[in-house]
Amino acid sequence: MINHNNIPGSRDEMLALQEKGLLWTVKHSYANCPFYKKKLDAAGISPGDIRCLDDLTRLPFTEKDELKDAYPFGLMAVPEKDIVRIHASSGTTGKKTVAYYTQKDLDDWAEMMARCWHFAGVTPDDRVQITVGYGLWTAGVGFQLGIEKLGAMTIPVGPAGNDLQMEMMIDLQATAICCTSSYALLLAEEVNKKGLQDKIKLRVGVIGSERWSDKMRSRIEELLEIETFDIIGMTETYGPGTGIDCREHQGVHYWSDYLIFETIDPDTGNPVAPGEQGEMVVTTLRKEGMPLIRYRTRDITRLLQDECPCGSPFFRVDRILGRTDDMFKFRGVIVFPAQIDQLISQTEELDCEYQIILKRHEGRDSMLLRIEAEKGCTSDRNELAQTIQNKIKTKIGISPRVEVVGCQELPRTERKTKRVFDEREH
Ligand code: ZN
Repeated sequence: MINHNNIPGSRDEMLALQEKGLLWTVKHSYANCPFYKKKLDAAGISPGDIRCLDDLTRLPFTEKDELKDAYPFGLMAVPEKDIVRIHASSGTTGKKTVAYYTQKDLDDWAEMMARCWHFAGVTPDDRVQITVGYGLWTAGVGFQLGIEKLGAMTIPVGPAGNDLQMEMMIDLQATAICCTSSYALLLAEEVNKKGLQDKIKLRVGVIGSERWSDKMRSRIEELLEIETFDIIGMTETYGPGTGIDCREHQGVHYWSDYLIFETIDPDTGNPVAPGEQGEMVVTTLRKEGMPLIRYRTRDITRLLQDECPCGSPFFRVDRILGRTDDMFKFRGVIVFPAQIDQLISQTEELDCEYQIILKRHEGRDSMLLRIEAEKGCTSDRNELAQTIQNKIKTKIGISPRVEVVGCQELPRTERKTKRVFDEREH
């Protein structure tokens, strides 16, 4: 069961917990992790200098590359005998990032993950099908920890083919599912194609690990007849489950008694005002095995200041709007795929899947945007392309070539779908 006694009753209580956690993390990291001792010494800061939450910004950032350089155990902050498990990120290039957990870290992760399922309305009466990977990856086992702590039933299918997923979903009458948004869409289209809607009992989908557009989300919800929840997290910060949207769906609550989120300008490192887009920076407050101080996640989001209509004291961020790695420059303009996503979402008769192909010919950049038309689209494709091209020109200030292709002509994957193909030489 979730430990409801541990949940702060008010925002003031939350801030007091954050302060306590920050002071503990700085002391613990400095005393037990040579990586952080060196870092703080170099910045001329001793743990005693950090006395309140406002002092957070005096601390140096921790960069993704530093974690890679510390591979595999360079950030360990407890004796190795206290580490009971490791995970590693999928890491598309170079070395992976390894994360290490004490038993308390795993218990805390389970608590956070159980809260996520609770926020999604899942109860001990539910049967939850896991479609994401197990093994070094944090996803499958993380979801399972939370489901079991909540007391619901886990159906740990993992990343099996569609046939097995459908068989289990129908025979075992799963009521909730967790998957990537790409896979949720693939599954939704499959169910629709085979006319299996009446045979499945799904009502909740917890979707994570990549950014997805509103259009994609409503398509998944419509086809599967489910309510979806956007879960966040990464290997470095325990794994998935550090936050989720509540049933109001107005941003993502994060477990602010375990973590502090900041947003900064990715170029200058200065904090941006609440409500403005910036790179998300995370500090852990209770993590023993591998504490993180001001870790730059490369995710772009906004801090939401107001209290959520649901009344929860947990602080909120906007859904992840993109990654600093995804942003690209086209003829001098910085572009986030999320901006293009949003314009597609607002255009009728266009579907949610798209590809951006960037090329360079004789020193001049060109951009091709391929978008799927919606099923049953009756408009002229060239006219649709012109409409979206005008919108992009007005809102973003660039003029890509736009091609509208048929429904389901662009590739789908079970993992993360790649949408930006930058074929220019750098
Ligand atoms: Zn809420």
